[in-house]
Amino acid sequence: MKKIIIAIDGYSSTGKSTIAKQLSKSLGYVYVDTGAMYRAITLFAMRKGYIGGATEDAEALVQSLSEITLVFKYNEALGYAEMYMDGENVEREIRTLAVSQNVSRVAAIEEVRLKLVEMQKQMGAEKGIVMDGRDIGTVVFPEAELKIFMTASPEKRAYRRYKELLDRGEDVNYEDVLHNVQKRDHIDSHREFSPLKKAVDAIEFDNSDMGLEEQFERMYNFALRVIEKQ
Ligand code: C5P
Repeated sequence: MKKIIIAIDGYSSTGKSTIAKQLSKSLGYVYVDTGAMYRAITLFAMRKGYIGGATEDAEALVQSLSEITLVFKYNEALGYAEMYMDGENVEREIRTLAVSQNVSRVAAIEEVRLKLVEMQKQMGAEKGIVMDGRDIGTVVFPEAELKIFMTASPEKRAYRRYKELLDRGEDVNYEDVLHNVQKRDHIDSHREFSPLKKAVDAIEFDNSDMGLEEQFERMYNFALRVIEKQ
């Protein structure tokens, strides 16, 4: 059967990656979390002091972009790929609130987007891929056979992210997480280069009041319907 490209976009913490991972596993497709790529570049910039401190130096970050290597390595035990930056597993560090607080500013830099979009296009060249992010259905794969745009109320999303961070042992409070989710949505939707927006041909999917099982079942059925038509 012919393989397709599944593009999943949407606001922060809508559970895109959870569903995308399940979907890719069931279909035998590759899963790519593009947020991890923007987060890794942000971690690099924070470590170098280009962002997150008193001053910002986007120019220096742009100059260093060609030196940064980003690789996804599949972890058999976890059942998904982890992000390696310059050979180091940064999977845990890129998910911290500190990185979340800087990532949208880094993701607004045109050169950062050009580099990552190019890598993402290559990853999907063979199809059979589920990719999640903010601009997958609009910029990376406008030709994707199935596009989903996920939404949920900011409070529900912030609560999910808050619980996730607590489970990982981070000392966070709900208000800070809610503020971060709303701020990222605002920056992501209003930036100049490829802002977050629903592709005209994407299916809008509000999961505010939906459990994981129901979400997966619906998504899987969307996918099967499209694949059968190929
Ligand atoms: O998906 P996740 O929440 O991990 O993404 C982190 C941030 O990376 C987003 O808030 C957004 O600023 C940026 N991003 C993006 N384009 C993508 C994926 C993520 O701008 N395709």
